[in-house]
Amino acid sequence: RQPIIAIDGPAGAGKSTVARQVAANLNLVYLDTGAMYRAVTWLVLQKGIAVDDECAIAELTSKCKIELTPTQDLQSSVGVWIDGIDVTQAIRTIEVTSLVSAIAAQSAVRQALVKQQQNWGKKGGLVAEGRDIGTHVFPDAEVKIFLTASVSERARRRQEDFHKQGQPEISLDQLERDIAERDWKDSTRKVSPLQKAADAVELQTDGLNISEVTAQIVNYYQQ
Ligand code: C5P
Repeated sequence: RQPIIAIDGPAGAGKSTVARQVAANLNLVYLDTGAMYRAVTWLVLQKGIAVDDECAIAELTSKCKIELTPTQDLQSSVGVWIDGIDVTQAIRTIEVTSLVSAIAAQSAVRQALVKQQQNWGKKGGLVAEGRDIGTHVFPDAEVKIFLTASVSERARRRQEDFHKQGQPEISLDQLERDIAERDWKDSTRKVSPLQKAADAVELQTDGLNISEVTAQIVNYYQQ
């Protein structure tokens, strides 16, 4: 099996950007697991299913087909498709973001998506990014990183992202509140909560830029 690099951490810690860069650097495939939870959330909304209707959501998750298409462009996210529909942009809206944690907390949803992630990872050669990669999805990953940053730094980065994507401006206060709320939901849920794996290296990224963080991770990998 080729190596697996697991990158976990809270919302807005820079996981996606860094994971993409590390993957490009080491010629590995980038796996954005958050995009999968977002895609299911988008489909739930689109079908008008209530967020607490766990039965209907379980059935929907078991039947839907999620595809992630790699991108060569380091600036943009991977292409995300669900049941043949391109949802690359649609899964990044505030509506999806505010509901995704409630859906990701449902055990049937996690079981189905984790199974798919493990299938994709059978041969290794991945940089997988999420909340439970080092603890549940790939507990035997060669390198485990837990990426963090202060809430204010993460809010600032999110604001920058929204700005770049041409999305409506949101105040820092509001972003800090949203991030803190998602942190709380993701780390207090019953099934595989956001947690640093015992053998993960913690990287606090306040004041570091993307290439510095990327270089540190590549370094750990090569040691
Ligand atoms: O990383 P991103 O912000 O796109 O993830 C969206 C949400 O998906 C997270 O807030 C979390 O609720 C859920 N998630 C998860 N497990 C993962 C990845 C994401 O529960 N491995």
